[in-house]
Amino acid sequence: MYDVEKIRAEFPILSRQVNGKPLTYLDNGASAQKPQVVIDAITQAYSQEYSNVHRGLHYLSNLATEKYEGVRGIIARFLNAGHEDHIVLNSGTTEGINMVAYSWAMQRLVAGDEILLSGMEHHANIVPWHFLRERQGVVIKWVDTAADGSLDPQAVIDAITPRTKLIALTQCSNVLGTVVDIKAVTQGAHAKGVPVLVDGSQSAVHMPVDVQDLGCDFFAITGHKLYGPSGSGAIYVHPDRMGEMRPCLGGGDMIREVSKEAVVYNDPPMMFEAGTPGIVQTIGLGVALEHMMDLGMDNIARHEATLRDYAADRFKELNWLNIQGQTADKASIFSFTLDGAAHAHDISTILDKKGVAVRAGHHCAGPLMDHLGVTATCRASFGLYNTKAEVDTLIEALELAHELFA
Ligand code: PLP
Repeated sequence: MYDVEKIRAEFPILSRQVNGKPLTYLDNGASAQKPQVVIDAITQAYSQEYSNVHRGLHYLSNLATEKYEGVRGIIARFLNAGHEDHIVLNSGTTEGINMVAYSWAMQRLVAGDEILLSGMEHHANIVPWHFLRERQGVVIKWVDTAADGSLDPQAVIDAITPRTKLIALTQCSNVLGTVVDIKAVTQGAHAKGVPVLVDGSQSAVHMPVDVQDLGCDFFAITGHKLYGPSGSGAIYVHPDRMGEMRPCLGGGDMIREVSKEAVVYNDPPMMFEAGTPGIVQTIGLGVALEHMMDLGMDNIARHEATLRDYAADRFKELNWLNIQGQTADKASIFSFTLDGAAHAHDISTILDKKGVAVRAGHHCAGPLMDHLGVTATCRASFGLYNTKAEVDTLIEALELAHELFA
């Protein structure tokens, strides 16, 4: 049984107060809190097991290397990647997508080639492609969401032209919670010879992910949203794409030999991991993912679906609340505005006074905000430790905000 109170007890920060009120943490879409096992693993790594990795011959270096490298296998298991060599370790999704832009796309795309994005991408999956537009004349094409926030996979496939060289899509919108049928996209895209990059920053938190079943070419995750440390993350790269990539960061660890005349690169994935990595952050991520897998991704998804449905029902009582994104199978992420002139920042400040932490702003999704015709929204995003009682607390705080601003 999924015992949410027992799970909450594993996250020490959840028992603190904020502004004299029990913390109701609903900003998981921005960054999630950490369980004690992760905090302990970080302390253990720094206090007993720390050294640089890969290059030492002494005991601690071997130990740190073993722990760090072990995480590659944990991530491969978490994503069902088939083999740990398909995992490039990094600092998070932003680095992962930029790596694809520099290591893969920049070598292969020329002026006039097209990259297809959805209209609900995070800036991390937009700006690297603008680099290619500015520097190489690559054309960015957009497929917008429907009025309910859904993204039709067929509309993405239909937008492919002979110049389309990459489709880059989020599996779950950080604003709308919309979940995209990636498998349908990859099947249609591959039939036309187009690779698919998936931004899994939000989806991997809320649902089981199987990159082989999805059939994607790249799948990026970010550790701090997965209940792990910030500065950790990874990207799955399909072996065929890995073979097409050239390193974009040069330095230690990614080379086998360096002379005045030439370099011999390390094998992938290490070829794409230059310099001293986030050793302890990555070790912490491994523990966080083990913790999620112990809880069971299906169980987490079920718990969050219950919360989502409960929240969606309760939101219906508030006829002055406008929820963006109405798809029934969305993740437990709700962006909203209130009728009237109140700015999202003011709403979130009122909620904060009640101990309720939500996000307010454009959520790094400028094109989506333009499409929705808003400059900012508040966002309540639920995680594996949230409860129905916290939904009620949010509703009470929203009623207060409505009273104050009505
Ligand atoms: N993509 C999505 C959908 C996100 O929600 C985020 C973070 O908010 C990112 C990418 C960027 O992740 P990071 O800042 O950890 O690299």
